[in-house]
Amino acid sequence: MSAQAGASPFRLASRSGGIRPSAIREILKATAQPGVISFAGGLPAAELFPLEEVRRATQEALADDGPAALQYGLTEGYGPLREWIAADLAANSGLKVTAGEVLVVSGSQQGLDLVAKVLLDPGDLVLVENPCYLGAIQAFSAYEARLLGVACDEGGIRPEALRRAMESAPARPKLLYLTPRFQNPTGTSLAPSRQAEIVALAEEFGVPVLEDDPYGRLRYSGPPHQALGALAGTGGWLFLGSTSKFLAPGLRVGWLAVRDPAFFERLVSVKQAADLHTPGLTQRAAFHYLRRPDAVQAHVAILCHVYRRRRDAMLAALARHLPTGCRWTRPDGGLFLWLELPEGADALDLFGAARKQNVLFVPGESFWVGEPKRHTLRLNFSHADPERIDEGVRRLASAWAGLR
Ligand code: PMP
Repeated sequence: MSAQAGASPFRLASRSGGIRPSAIREILKATAQPGVISFAGGLPAAELFPLEEVRRATQEALADDGPAALQYGLTEGYGPLREWIAADLAANSGLKVTAGEVLVVSGSQQGLDLVAKVLLDPGDLVLVENPCYLGAIQAFSAYEARLLGVACDEGGIRPEALRRAMESAPARPKLLYLTPRFQNPTGTSLAPSRQAEIVALAEEFGVPVLEDDPYGRLRYSGPPHQALGALAGTGGWLFLGSTSKFLAPGLRVGWLAVRDPAFFERLVSVKQAADLHTPGLTQRAAFHYLRRPDAVQAHVAILCHVYRRRRDAMLAALARHLPTGCRWTRPDGGLFLWLELPEGADALDLFGAARKQNVLFVPGESFWVGEPKRHTLRLNFSHADPERIDEGVRRLASAWAGLR
């Protein structure tokens, strides 16, 4: 049989059709235009990247390891980096894992993909916070999982909603995906009083947890939150970390801590199929940077200082410019806050009006599983400086007033 003239020669797999396109990527294309104030992306402030230190670390990697830095490497990752990660997880997150239980991944996004690939058959259930990180929705959807959103509030996922979801799920969910510290998109954290209950629920119903923690180091106020995994007693627990938000996302160095040896082996096989290994040069550069604790601490302190000011500028600007009836979260860390317009409003209308005034944000509908709450939106506060933040929020409020 001959192919139809003009038809695509590709007969696509159905699973790739179920992935929601990222509205964010589309919106980011508009941020490059001059005069635009963007609250849309999740970009760290580029002017704060430790360029000199990364240059020195890369030179050290090449000087110390020579050709090995450019050679193929182990799928599991560069040994000294895995050792550093295991020690760091113990010191900063209260997690006890050995270097042998750490898989270096090409950004935590790859960790989400690999876990989904190993775990999920079509139709399997995954419980997620609602709203949820869009990249996780995409990764799980790519394996044709069914996502069940669990209600959240200022204290993160709600235990009684999680119990109800576990009890009423048509089958045992394969995974519970959580971002307990400074969530994307809302900026909220799991309240310490809820932590033990969430872990106990996952264990009672036999549902493994994937804890995603790219923002844990970016804390500007409030008490430190321990990682949820520090409370987990079983092997059914996975922890994802990343250098993206506190060092540089372009390195693509993240990690997945896995206590279950059989699951770890499967992850290694699927990672081999995906990319053989995370680039050896960036792993080594990251290691040579990270092995100086004083430099890391000093850099994180600068990030927190700058981002705290930007967060405060955005909170003050929202209070100053937005009318009553709008509500927003007050995150203790991370890169985002979440805004609720009055019920009945549509953030897409505001997006259209704000775009004409050269202000961008991400309408909330991309982050919802199931029925979206259309009056919600995500604002990033790390990218623009305080003056631009105030001006951007002023324009946002004026766009909103124009719609009324
Ligand atoms: N998880 C969450 C919650 C994120 O917000 C992001 C990045 N925006 C990622 C994972 C992926 O980050 P990376 O792959 O750069 O580590």
